[in-house]
Amino acid sequence: MTAISPAQVRMAAVLTGALVGAIAVGLSRSPAIGQAPATPTAPALQEPLAAPLDGREGRPLLIENFRPEAQLKVARTNLTRARFPAVDVHTHFRHKFRGGADELAHWVRVMDENQIAVCVSLDGQWDALLDEHAELLWKQHRDRFVIFANIDWQGSGQADDPASWDCHRPDFARRTAAQLARAKERGAAGVKIFKQFGLGYKNPDGSLVAIDDPRWDAIWQACGELGLPVLIHVADPVAFFEPIDERNERWEELHRHPDWSFPAPQFPRHAELLAAFLRVVKRHPKTTFIGAHVAGNAEDLAQVGQWLDEHPNLYVEIASRISELGRQPYTARRFFVKYADRILFGTDGPWPVERLHLYWQFLETENEYFPYSEKPFPPQGFWQIYGVHLPDEVLRKVYQENAARIVPGVAERLRKIKRESP
Ligand SMILES: [Zn+2]
Repeated sequence: MTAISPAQVRMAAVLTGALVGAIAVGLSRSPAIGQAPATPTAPALQEPLAAPLDGREGRPLLIENFRPEAQLKVARTNLTRARFPAVDVHTHFRHKFRGGADELAHWVRVMDENQIAVCVSLDGQWDALLDEHAELLWKQHRDRFVIFANIDWQGSGQADDPASWDCHRPDFARRTAAQLARAKERGAAGVKIFKQFGLGYKNPDGSLVAIDDPRWDAIWQACGELGLPVLIHVADPVAFFEPIDERNERWEELHRHPDWSFPAPQFPRHAELLAAFLRVVKRHPKTTFIGAHVAGNAEDLAQVGQWLDEHPNLYVEIASRISELGRQPYTARRFFVKYADRILFGTDGPWPVERLHLYWQFLETENEYFPYSEKPFPPQGFWQIYGVHLPDEVLRKVYQENAARIVPGVAERLRKIKRESP
């Protein structure tokens, strides 16, 4: 990283002050006749800005107001459903979903229309909470949902007192293994680990819990023995670990959500988190790991490919990363073709249909330079994407065959849906 000298800091402060002054003077209304003019030491910052920074009529433009409309005229194929019945291995039917049976019926219709055969709900939690979630999803739609359990790191401890968390008490791994065995009996098909593991959960001394802490080894081993794949979210986009400044490619997003930033030295670096994850994958070759969001490293597919070469028990899924994959369409297409047996379809849904349609366009068409999100400002990087028009045999693997092979309960659901479809 480039060091900034104190002189540069002073210069920046002077420039910022001058700019704020210029904007305030330029945009504030002149004082009415008879009124004293504002003193130069107190520019009219209390007054609302007279004009928005909308780039019109010579005014400056704030980056969050920039809404460029592409004038490109190219052929575009609009797809409204997957080419083959798809399994969405990354959905949040607890965390993103507040409704009851009616709302669920709506989402099942969305699945039908888009040819999503099965969704994996990753927020199953444990014990009675798991039963409650299963009751919601399975009462009427057992064939359409598979549920992953979670790990209760906190237990009866206080959220803000890490020393009271269950994960720091003796024998936590053994108790968790027993809880996961109960989850399997209740129908859970796998385990989801959230990104707070590595970026949020703390040790009693205030340091972050390490992903490769040997205390958790017995948990990963139990997942292997129980046949529960572990879908794990490690790290976050690389830009979230960089300073929020004019060079940050996700500046707009981090400006809106400063809490998504993981600056040094409070947080481990992106590469350190992933190295710790890979050590766990290597130590537990009999456990299947699914790296969420292209194993947290969609910006560097060559490296993800190396990891897949080195660790046959590692898979990746693509949820919320068509923004990254679609800005490198040649590299991404080669990656999908070479690792077709190791990549799973996921979306981070449930999403409005507009978002799902963009996944089909990305995976199946040659569309050029199109938005990856239905939201007005690109929410995950200020760019557009290109389709990778995958061949049918790759699509079949990514949409269903890989999930059917490694996620318990998927294959039987797909067979049943196939039998019942006309
Ligand atoms: Zn998610």
